[in-house]
Amino acid sequence: MFHTGLRTPGAVRTEESAAGTDLYFQRCAWCHTTTFQRLLCPTCGSTDLSPQLSEGEGVITVRRAHTAADADLWPVHMAEGFVVRCRVDGPPHAVRPGVRVKLASAADTGRRPVVRLCEEVPLDGWI
Ligand SMILES: [Zn+2]
Repeated sequence: MFHTGLRTPGAVRTEESAAGTDLYFQRCAWCHTTTFQRLLCPTCGSTDLSPQLSEGEGVITVRRAHTAADADLWPVHMAEGFVVRCRVDGPPHAVRPGVRVKLASAADTGRRPVVRLCEEVPLDGWI
């Protein structure tokens, strides 16, 4: 019948993540720096990083040079303070730095998280 996805459980701890929208980040036990998918704390170099669940809200930030293959990948500054490159699901004219986004689908192994624009963007209301 209808499959909601091809996610394979196991890579991420699935306590209450049936919806597949749980994005885990890491917080350093020593300096409380937040980061994403690192082995070491970028600030103090500690390996004592504990996973924490993000609320999934953030703001698109300015990106540097990108390839055509990365055209819809943007760095998103999440509310918890870490930055993660996400695939942004929205009309291209509305996707720009400063726009608020919300997590739509969390990262599976080897894939990027997907975010959606928070504000409704009228397709015909712009010049
Ligand atoms: Zn640290």
